Amino acid sequence: MADLDVAVVGAGFAGIYAVHAFRSAGLTVRAFEAGGGIGGTWFWNCYPGARCDVESKDYSYSFSPELEQDWSWSERYPAQPEVLRYLNHVADRFGLWPDIQLSTRVTAATWDPGSSHWTVTTGDGQRRTARFLISAVGCLSAYQVPSLPGLETFAGPWYHTSRWPRDGADFTGLRVGLIGTGSTGIQVAPEIAAVAEHLYVFQRTANFAVPNRNRAVDPDWERAFKADYRTYRKQAQESFLGVPIPGTGRPALTEPAEDVQRTLMARWQAGGGMPFLGAYTDVLVDRAANDIVAEFMRDRIRETVADPAVAGLLLPRAYPVGAKRLCQSDDYFAMFNRPTVTLVDIRSAPVSSVAPSGLRTADAFYELDALVFATGFDAISGALRQIDVRGTGGVSLAGEWAAGPRSYLGVAPAGFPNMFIVTGPGSPSVLSNMVLSIEQHVEWIRDCVLHADARGHATVEATPSAEDAWMAHVTEVAYSTLFPLADSWYTGANIPGKPRVFTPYLGGVGPYRARCDAVAAAGYEGFVFS
Ligand code: NAP
Repeated sequence: MADLDVAVVGAGFAGIYAVHAFRSAGLTVRAFEAGGGIGGTWFWNCYPGARCDVESKDYSYSFSPELEQDWSWSERYPAQPEVLRYLNHVADRFGLWPDIQLSTRVTAATWDPGSSHWTVTTGDGQRRTARFLISAVGCLSAYQVPSLPGLETFAGPWYHTSRWPRDGADFTGLRVGLIGTGSTGIQVAPEIAAVAEHLYVFQRTANFAVPNRNRAVDPDWERAFKADYRTYRKQAQESFLGVPIPGTGRPALTEPAEDVQRTLMARWQAGGGMPFLGAYTDVLVDRAANDIVAEFMRDRIRETVADPAVAGLLLPRAYPVGAKRLCQSDDYFAMFNRPTVTLVDIRSAPVSSVAPSGLRTADAFYELDALVFATGFDAISGALRQIDVRGTGGVSLAGEWAAGPRSYLGVAPAGFPNMFIVTGPGSPSVLSNMVLSIEQHVEWIRDCVLHADARGHATVEATPSAEDAWMAHVTEVAYSTLFPLADSWYTGANIPGKPRVFTPYLGGVGPYRARCDAVAAAGYEGFVFS
């Protein structure tokens, strides 16, 4: 008999809810978490300025009406410390701590067909067996630092934003170099610029960013909103992104140009990426419509940044707006008006090496006291590939994914019985409100496990043909949009040597949920039970 019914890897939003959901269903469960606290991405990414770009009313669990009534968010967009406080509150409130094991990295998981168990090995050499293995490792956990010659010789401190010191880093009076201008770099830069003697922002690709217009949550608004939270959650479940966005419902290309500009300006003033990009139906599928929105955003940069040469470098032109994650910031572009901030174009003159006193590019040397990497993640598959997962016949998951990560319905990899991935490759995951998608996956997996148990089946496994058909569908949907035109982490293009496969599912949260429900209603079509 296995030690556990369910072993969960990770205790972020997904792992925490998995513990609650499986335990409430009467199963024994344990989550193994590498961090010294729960929270996953919200535990590790404690850099200054870290803030969620999905509104707090959406980026929160919906499984407990009491929880959503009792908890009050202080801001429209929650900052990292508040999200972490929320998750710890959830663990307290539902008594989850006894089933979460912190500071425990899972290094291997091996399927034993004889006993129909997984053996989970942790960094300290311990082994636990479980009937089911649930990966809740998250999509943005395996961080990447570029391999720059000489980095080890750098005399000052250097940091990756995803492994920020828990007691902070002090840049007061220092010359700081920042590499990376994605969502993270754009958030951390103004915070560093506020205290540093000088900040050098090394930019390879200019990015689009919309304002947050973050603000405190108004208690009267909150009371009125919470009175009908359930209806709102239902709308969210059926929506495209997992957030109900009131769009115009029309294509921009059929609208008079002045009306489009007026609509975009109103949404720009209101703040937030989802309502802005969701204004028109054709922005992410038609390049001409996309160009209108992109040019609107470039105009906002031109009017914000005083030096036309700096503004010119900041204008994003390398990809359609929205095809990479849209960044959000209220102060990133204006930061470049400070005399103590320099934008360095490393597209034309790449970084060549690091020396003890600074950083060398193809055409200059920058004296630096500290270096910050906001260089992103080996996303979606990276964290799981770091674990030695072995399925039927000892086949390795990393090997199976050599040509790109895959799974049936974004939740079950063929060849790996009794293994499920929360928000895995081929699910809406990172192109949706993650918390809502996590809940949908965890509940679907729980029901599948209960279905197997109720019928006395020891194993459940996706078939290779179901997996093939699903991934072909994921690709087909992706290539009907502008998303594949960007060199993004959605495709693995940010990791040298990683195969380029567009992995998230773009069919929409509502339709995806309906598909998962239909699969379950048909007796878990595409799965084999034994
Ligand atoms: P990212 O979007 O992958 O951005 C990484 C940045 O580092 C890019 O500017 C990239 O340039 C640069 N870079 C990478 N390798 C480099 C190299 N060798 N030399 C020079 N530059 C290099 O990573 P991220 O900013 O950490 O964001 C990842 C995701 O996390 C986001 O897309 C978002 O989903 C999530 N996130 C969300 C929030 C939020 O909720 N507000 C905040 C932070 C992160 P290129 O573009 O040229 O590759």
